[in-house]
Amino acid sequence: MNVDRTIKLKMDLSEYDKETLKLTMSMSNHVFNEIARYGFENHTCSMVSIHHATYYDIRGRYPELPCSILQGIRDVACEALKGVEHKKLPKSKQFSAIRYNKRVCNINLLDQTVTLASIKGRVKATFPIPEYYKQYLVWEIRTSTLGYNKQQDTFYLHVTIRKPSPEPTRDNEILGIDRGIVNIAVTSSNDFFRSKSIKNVRAKYAYLRAKLQSKGTRSAKKLLRKISRKEERFVTWVNHNISKEIAAMPYGVLAIEDLTSIRVQSRMKGVKFTKKLNNWSFYQIEQFLRYKAEAFGKSVITIDPCYTSQKCSKCGHIYKGNRKGNSFHCVKCGFQIHADLNAARNIAILGKSGDSRRTVTSPYIACDYAEACKGIDAEHSYNAPHLSAG
Ligand SMILES: [Zn+2]
Repeated sequence: MNVDRTIKLKMDLSEYDKETLKLTMSMSNHVFNEIARYGFENHTCSMVSIHHATYYDIRGRYPELPCSILQGIRDVACEALKGVEHKKLPKSKQFSAIRYNKRVCNINLLDQTVTLASIKGRVKATFPIPEYYKQYLVWEIRTSTLGYNKQQDTFYLHVTIRKPSPEPTRDNEILGIDRGIVNIAVTSSNDFFRSKSIKNVRAKYAYLRAKLQSKGTRSAKKLLRKISRKEERFVTWVNHNISKEIAAMPYGVLAIEDLTSIRVQSRMKGVKFTKKLNNWSFYQIEQFLRYKAEAFGKSVITIDPCYTSQKCSKCGHIYKGNRKGNSFHCVKCGFQIHADLNAARNIAILGKSGDSRRTVTSPYIACDYAEACKGIDAEHSYNAPHLSAG
């Protein structure tokens, strides 16, 4: 098993090299369309037959196109033909992204340099590596795709990197995680994750929003959207940090509640917007946990959230009145505990009994949280004090 990630590098290029790459790109896409048309008209997506039929002809007509790029184009065209099952003709635009195989694209992540084959020989470029990509420096580089953003007149290299996933943690200890508002996450290992600042920041935004909403002008609406995005980025950043810490804990399996639960919603009796935001944030924590757990070779399971807040984690007695706000007090055995911690322990217990598991970790769909974290306001300092509870 391997873990694959794609990182996006912004390339610094001279104007001359940009022009060269643009010409290379448009020629490549033109050739792609020719090859695809051949395959489409002849009902074939076989690399061998397409190669024999088109290679020398295209080499003759486009001698400046490096043969390694041409081979890459042919491979992508064959995959595209296969993908659409000959139902329609695959087409590329002038500046559609082009794939570079390892041989034609030498990336040195440590030196932050890359050389790319082009119609005018090798083009050399540098790229800054953002801080959050530094962990990937030692990963194996797979394929790269060159993309061009017309509006920004900027080239990006999307690099797929790989590392073998670590052996799954041997101990199958299960960590239960309860998600909430005040405590963003509470784990069955007695760890409370909350952000001191998140409440203040949210209050600040709520105030600003209310003020702007009452104004109702166009510029106020524009500002409103900007503020909402800023708030989202902040919550994303906090979620990222919390899930990182939880995923690193010494447990092989992370158990969480199934998000489709109604209980999670009913617990959040607040302003409509907060409710919405929290739902989104709950879901995000789960995504981040899956993503990070995968890198540790751990799995995430979801459990049926029924009664996790009403059930006593010590004796198993279920009674609605056991829980009062933040505290849990079992009427049967007298056990007392923080309500969220009780829920987290129940989640861990349910995770152990296989029956209650709803789904096993589904393959994670790459989520570029780093991208989402970009431009976060430096004034928010994340603070997640660990409070031990008994
Ligand atoms: Zn009890």
